[in-house]
Amino acid sequence: MTTTPPPARADVAIIGAGPVGLLIALLLGRRGWQVEVLERQATAYGRPRAVHLDHEAARILQHAGIMDDLAPQTEVMDSYLWRNAGGTALLWLDGAPEVPTVSGWPASTMFHQPDLERLLAEAVSRQPGVRVRMGHDVRDVVAGPVSGAVSGTVNGPVSGTAAGESVSVQADGPGGARAQVRARWVIGSTSRTASRRPSQSSTTAQQTERGR
Ligand SMILES: Cc1cc2nc3c(=O)[nH]c(=O)nc-3n(C[C@H](O)[C@H](O)[C@H](O)COP(=O)(O)OP(=O)(O)OC[C@H]3O[C@@H](n4cnc5c(N)ncnc54)[C@H](O)[C@@H]3O)c2cc1C
Repeated sequence: MTTTPPPARADVAIIGAGPVGLLIALLLGRRGWQVEVLERQATAYGRPRAVHLDHEAARILQHAGIMDDLAPQTEVMDSYLWRNAGGTALLWLDGAPEVPTVSGWPASTMFHQPDLERLLAEAVSRQPGVRVRMGHDVRDVVAGPVSGAVSGTVNGPVSGTAAGESVSVQADGPGGARAQVRARWVIGSTSRTASRRPSQSSTTAQQTERGR
């Protein structure tokens, strides 16, 4: 029989260590929150998907302390041309505005997603109060005292009467070991490999304690 160790305690449990989950973890950690991140994969994905960020995203990454290291590895985008394999132009978007944006960052920047994810992971690893557990596949999210009144799954909203003060996030860890996190908030940031919700990229937060 598989036994479940005592739950870890956190202010916030984050499901998914993609760029969104890691960035939220970093920003919360810098505000003194205790954060547990659970990621299904054993290692980072390592391939680019997102390629472009606007000036507001750059500003947020600057605030998180990432842009100084990321910016030298990016290219300002002044036009966007798509060609097919034969070289025929399919789409041409002419230019981002050259005027400075209100944030001070370029309107359009191209970046390499694995670079961003590596910088975020490094920053998170140095951040007190934040722990990332790779190889942990979240299976259930149960809110409130174990009364059965409020429950949900990682791919669906928690429903019922939110009488509890915490959420229990339950995961299968390496080798099938069970892991649990009890937190006051849970954030799901699981777009890429949420197998039962393949077409959405969503970040949802469930508040479990009134008054915050
Ligand atoms: C082919 C392709 C091209 C794309 N091109 C672009 C683009 O040009 N521009 C753009 O902005 N975006 C693009 N995207 C979308 C891109 O993936 C996202 O912008 C970005 O990666 C989303 O970051 P995220 O952190 O929200 O999700 P993800 O990077 O998907 O990270 C979510 C993480 O959650 C983990 N996870 C899922 N379920 C669980 C679970 N039950 N328990 C624990 N962990 C779990 C996953 O393993 C994953 O690591 C593209 C995606 C693909 C597939």
